[in-house]
Amino acid sequence: MGKVIAIANQKGGVGKTTTAVNLSACLAHIGKRVLLIDVDPQGNTTSGIGIDKGDVENCIYNILVEDISPKEVIMATAIEGLDIIPSTIQLAGAEIELVPTISREVRLKRALEQVEHNYDYIIIDCPPSLGLLTINSLTASSSVLIPVQCEYYALEGLSQLLNTVRLVQKHLNTNLEIEGVLLTMLDARTNLGIQVIDEVKKYFREKVFATIIPRNVRLSEAPSHGQPIITYDPKSRGAEVYIDLAKEVVANG
Ligand code: ADP
Ligand code: MG
Repeated sequence: MGKVIAIANQKGGVGKTTTAVNLSACLAHIGKRVLLIDVDPQGNTTSGIGIDKGDVENCIYNILVEDISPKEVIMATAIEGLDIIPSTIQLAGAEIELVPTISREVRLKRALEQVEHNYDYIIIDCPPSLGLLTINSLTASSSVLIPVQCEYYALEGLSQLLNTVRLVQKHLNTNLEIEGVLLTMLDARTNLGIQVIDEVKKYFREKVFATIIPRNVRLSEAPSHGQPIITYDPKSRGAEVYIDLAKEVVANG
């Protein structure tokens, strides 16, 4: 049975998409069967993994709103072992269109039950909000991975996210766990980064990943080439750390 990991933080620009794309590609690289799901209307995960939006016939919208089977939506990527359920801008309407629908919070969970057995890991890239798309993602997941950027106010907004996680645990998905907090975009030249690491570790303790993602320019270049770091620049520091993260996730069980 596949482990489903939602990558969530309602703050934008903290490294959710970068982590979703690169963790997925690195898990595939170490031999796992992986499904990446883009649940952000911006579709940065979709383009970042090299899918041309013009080639997308059905997307996550059709699964969530129109009950189309994920089997009809899943696309192969250029990375062996990595499939994707893409997103398009059509998804922007889903947050509102889902409101009056039956079992609106469990639509993704129900859909994934049809394909889960084909994968070791399913990685879900959440949008920067705590609305129905993120609720669907958390309800469908075994765990949530929370990227936190190493900057001022790193912890700001996290209590809202943790509150949403608690509500989902209570009402929709009692099995949901916290996979870990991932520190991202560390600038090792500043003291600030170190202070943030201490602060986050004080708060989350053993839930913080040992792997810390540094700022790495190759990681920010890769999406415009439609490639994960592992193929764009396999020798870069960015590739090394995301392989480390993939191994840590596997070791987590
Ligand atoms: P989110 O999905 O949370 O909004 P992204 O993953 O899109 O965040 O990251 C925001 C921006 O920061 C993107 O331009 C991305 O390329 C860049 N970025 C993310 N992680 C790193 C990193 N470790 N080093 C350098 N740039 C990064
Ligand atoms: Mg994103």
